[in-house]
Amino acid sequence: MQAEPISRGLRKAAPRPDLYEVSHLSDPWEAMTAELKPPMSHQDAFLEAYRCLLCGGPLTPAPCMLACPAKVDVPSFIGAISVGQPVEAAEIIFDANPLGGTCARVCPTEELCEGSCVLNSTHQRPVDIGRLQRYAIDQAFKEGDLMVPKRPQPNGSRVAVVGAGPAGIAGAFELAKRGYKVTLFDSKPSTGGLVRSAIAPYRQLRDPLDQETARLWELGVEFRLGTTIDKKLRKELESSYDAILLAIGMGDDATTGCEGNELEGVFSSLPFIERIKATDLPNVKNKVAVIGAGNTAMDVAREAVRLGAKEVTVLYRRSAEEMPAFPVEYEEAIEEGVHFAWLTNPVSYEGNGSVRAVRCSKMELGEPDSSGRRRPVPVAGSEFLLEVDTVIEAIGQLPRKDFLADISGVELESGLIKAKTETGETGNPLYFAAGDALNGGATVVEAVKLGKAAAAGIDAKLSELRKVK
Ligand SMILES: Cc1cc2nc3c(=O)[nH]c(=O)nc-3n(C[C@H](O)[C@H](O)[C@H](O)COP(=O)(O)OP(=O)(O)OC[C@H]3O[C@@H](n4cnc5c(N)ncnc54)[C@H](O)[C@@H]3O)c2cc1C
Repeated sequence: MQAEPISRGLRKAAPRPDLYEVSHLSDPWEAMTAELKPPMSHQDAFLEAYRCLLCGGPLTPAPCMLACPAKVDVPSFIGAISVGQPVEAAEIIFDANPLGGTCARVCPTEELCEGSCVLNSTHQRPVDIGRLQRYAIDQAFKEGDLMVPKRPQPNGSRVAVVGAGPAGIAGAFELAKRGYKVTLFDSKPSTGGLVRSAIAPYRQLRDPLDQETARLWELGVEFRLGTTIDKKLRKELESSYDAILLAIGMGDDATTGCEGNELEGVFSSLPFIERIKATDLPNVKNKVAVIGAGNTAMDVAREAVRLGAKEVTVLYRRSAEEMPAFPVEYEEAIEEGVHFAWLTNPVSYEGNGSVRAVRCSKMELGEPDSSGRRRPVPVAGSEFLLEVDTVIEAIGQLPRKDFLADISGVELESGLIKAKTETGETGNPLYFAAGDALNGGATVVEAVKLGKAAAAGIDAKLSELRKVK
């Protein structure tokens, strides 16, 4: 995820009444799942909705709506809540974002809609848009209303969507709404991609992903879960579908390659989170080192705190200014007691069977590298040992190159799919792409945006083809 550089550590977070207080909870599972953004009561939702100035209009959309990658009409749905119409509010949200309930929980709202709320400029706290969005959708689902649009007349074209994560779900939903016969494939036995397996449980366990998936089913999308599209199946798709949307996300975790990473107590971020979500809590001991300083690193550091670690230290080879985590994630990690060691890089993990220490090197920043950030360079003779009993590497994921390697015309750039247009069109007229596989990993709502854009691109192309037939 990209975040603006911040002049931190340094900006103190405004106190948030709803911020989760880790120290109160002693049961690790209760601690893991206590939600960062808990549900609102009717009364709270009503009062909060009244704080919204309902700014914007047909000619000047509200800043919160402009800041939302999925372009949810925030003032309209909040207006509906304020007049006691949560189902109508949910319909407005779902009209723009088929993962509206998920995004209400997992979106970095502080960086997006709430960050651009006009109340910020009047020194008031922004409207709690994320939790109002959650309220509307939870209420609608509680009333048993899936808010599925009417099935359109089939238009005769078939589209295969590979990957049932946010990008694939958004693409499949938009295409089905437009009358396409859509088949959604995923290797895993369930939908959701990283939302189901990797997003920290204090943001979202499962709800409302299952209901959101049921909406696709009701709209006529065919599911082929537990099906990995390999080279052979890909050929079959190419001959049976009019377009193929690649929404395959990223692959396994990248690793530091540090010597000693086979030691007991050294984890990689994705399996670490997957185990927590599967209630198979990893055995985290007292002193934890987290390697990396992106949003995933903040999540695993905060989860280690919840699992009972006494001292959690994030090691980052650059300085605070280059840290990729969103400011709010960093500030909340600090509030929960996480420590940060800047300009510090792991060299090896030491121990006999189990990890006992990280050998670290101090770093200094040299000339900018290809990312535009100053390259970290080891300081000679600066190595030292940091005593730990758990290490969690969280330095990002690798692209899934194998599957893509030989699709004629589909170009890759640093392992990511290279799109020719904003609709994710590739160099092969049959293939479009969306989500993390294109942008290298960002947020759920960005993946939704790209899935919707690809659906629009596929529709434009196949509509033209249908006209000339
Ligand atoms: C640890 C972690 C925490 C995160 N936390 C947040 C957060 O709090 N908020 C937020 O907004 N974002 C978060 N993100 C980012 C977010 O989860 C992703 O940006 C988003 O899920 C990307 O969606 P996608 O559909 O592109 O890919 P994915 O979610 O990765 O889905 C891709 C799907 O494609 C399937 N697939 C791949 N290859 C094949 C194949 N050959 N055949 C069949 N199926 C295949 C996979 O099984 C997978 O289900 C987090 C990411 C990580 C790693």
